[in-house]
Amino acid sequence: MTALILDGKVVADVVKGEVRAAVAGLGYQPGLATILVGDDPASHAYVRGKRRDASQVGIRSIHHEPPASITDDDLGALVDAMNGDDEVDGILVQLPLPGHLDGEAIVERIDPAKDVDGLHPFSLGRLMLGRPGLRPCTPTGIMRILDHYGIGTVGAHAVVVGRSFLVGRPLAMMLSERGADATVSMAHTRTRELASLTREADILVAAAGVPGLIGADHVKPGATVIDVGVNRTDAGLVGDVDFEAVVGVAGAITPVPGGVGPMTRAMLLSNTLRAATARRVST
Ligand code: NAP
Repeated sequence: MTALILDGKVVADVVKGEVRAAVAGLGYQPGLATILVGDDPASHAYVRGKRRDASQVGIRSIHHEPPASITDDDLGALVDAMNGDDEVDGILVQLPLPGHLDGEAIVERIDPAKDVDGLHPFSLGRLMLGRPGLRPCTPTGIMRILDHYGIGTVGAHAVVVGRSFLVGRPLAMMLSERGADATVSMAHTRTRELASLTREADILVAAAGVPGLIGADHVKPGATVIDVGVNRTDAGLVGDVDFEAVVGVAGAITPVPGGVGPMTRAMLLSNTLRAATARRVST
């Protein structure tokens, strides 16, 4: 058996097409502010990609690249300026920030109405409460992939490996909320017998940041495997799943690259459209 490849680029193109069409009908151009601090090459590449995506769907990109030595106060003031700028509908502060800066405080400074990364405590709180709001991009993108390929979650046992606020925890919330209705287990470094737990999964999500953590022995035949991991190794970019081994066991699997990554970027555009629509209707 060879698994169905869940192609994130295909689904991302569908999302981008929807956003492009919606933006064209708005009568104004939504604005996405990106703030990039420091010289981490991966962060620069991510932000370049996000800005390119924005321009492809008609979202204006407003970019700020303050010096790496910027202080918390000055970075906070920049966020305040973006909060107060009517042309800015969404604000993205690329994480991680250099070590001398307080990333949590900066994210909390973003106006929740412009929190297109969905990582402000207000947004995460609404997710927890099951109320509508801006949702974190990576988990939302995973839910969209499942939906696109008709992979049902109702009553499924989903095992999420990883409990970060960025991926694992919000994804566990989304999978278990009403409508999605999966039964969710969340694993972490203290989980005993990881393989016996993951072998129970109908939907297995690996978001640990450990290359090759999930092998064929971790997967129930026919399960859906979502690989969130992005690990730069000597062998190039790899996920958390040993793709070559697991593709022969799983029923469906996302590749790395080309799986979850493009969806994360697409959902940022979708969130920016959503923020623009909500904000401009309410003002
Ligand atoms: P993180 O904050 O480092 O969290 C990793 C989580 O995995 C932690 O909860 C950790 O457990 C758990 N974990 C680590 N090793 C484990 C092991 N051997 N067994 C079980 N659990 C283990 O990472 P993150 O920000 O969530 O990102 C995870 C991965 O996804 C990274 O590779 C990252 O680059 C990637 N990522 C990709 C995208 C995308 O768009 N494709 C977006 C975001 C992140 P503890 O809590 O016990 O430490």
